[in-house]
Amino acid sequence: MAYDTYNVGMGRHKLGIAAAVAALLALASLWPGGGPPAGTPTATEPTASAADPPASEDGDEAEDTGTPAAPSSAPSEPASPPASSAAPTTAAPPASASEPAGGAYGGPLGTRNRTGSDAVALTFDDGPSPEWTPTILAMLRERGIKATFCMIGAYAEAHPELVADIAREGHTLCNHTWFHEFDLGARSEGEIRANLQRTNDAIAKAVPGAEIGFFRHPGGQWTDRAIAVAADLGMESLHWAVDPSDWDEATTEAQIRERVVDRTGPGAVVLLHDGASNQRDLCGALESIFAEFERRGYAYTAL
Ligand SMILES: [Zn+2]
Repeated sequence: MAYDTYNVGMGRHKLGIAAAVAALLALASLWPGGGPPAGTPTATEPTASAADPPASEDGDEAEDTGTPAAPSSAPSEPASPPASSAAPTTAAPPASASEPAGGAYGGPLGTRNRTGSDAVALTFDDGPSPEWTPTILAMLRERGIKATFCMIGAYAEAHPELVADIAREGHTLCNHTWFHEFDLGARSEGEIRANLQRTNDAIAKAVPGAEIGFFRHPGGQWTDRAIAVAADLGMESLHWAVDPSDWDEATTEAQIRERVVDRTGPGAVVLLHDGASNQRDLCGALESIFAEFERRGYAYTAL
């Protein structure tokens, strides 16, 4: 496990704080006047080993101003380039995505990274986005696919109609923190709780009585504390098994398609984004991903 290696002997909370400080300093020095531009790497990601599932980064960077801005992307690249682009291609999906269902909690710190059945879960993070969420909803609707949307609270507050659309169409709702705070898990229990509750409140304001059964930490930077608080609020911590880095401007449509198709096996939770800035490529790739998954006979689950 990359995350185990990452945390060995260091104390993950301390490391998380150090990493967050390093990232903030790096960002402050580069963009003193505002948020980082799309595609900016952060210094906060754990490294991945070849034996692990792709565990790179999720999501965009969101400036913690309290004012929702247009979603932008600023996570880091995986330390290990995706196999599909860096190594000779293999026809078979990786072991991590083709194991028998049952071991659904192989994510960092025991988080869920598989569906628990043969069905595949598509998850869309960092929205809702007026630019991309309606398009992705329409694509899912056309095929009768139910997915999971991991929403940023500030964006949910800014676009309640999109939250309502997502819920009305039968997709699963997931809390992705108030403003994509990468270091949230390293903060105090009280801060984590307030952040997650504020996010749930924004979602529930758009969809009264909404069931928010999942939490996904930005960047996959899980801590035991964040997982415990989420559980206390009734949310299961949801990681992923497949990450094509679709948020990254540098990732092409062909790469997104190839990474998802190569790495996804039965039971995989696939990390995608409706709230990043590169989603034209994702939408293009989704067409052929759907076709390939149909050829394989995959079913979908919204978790
Ligand atoms: Zn995210």
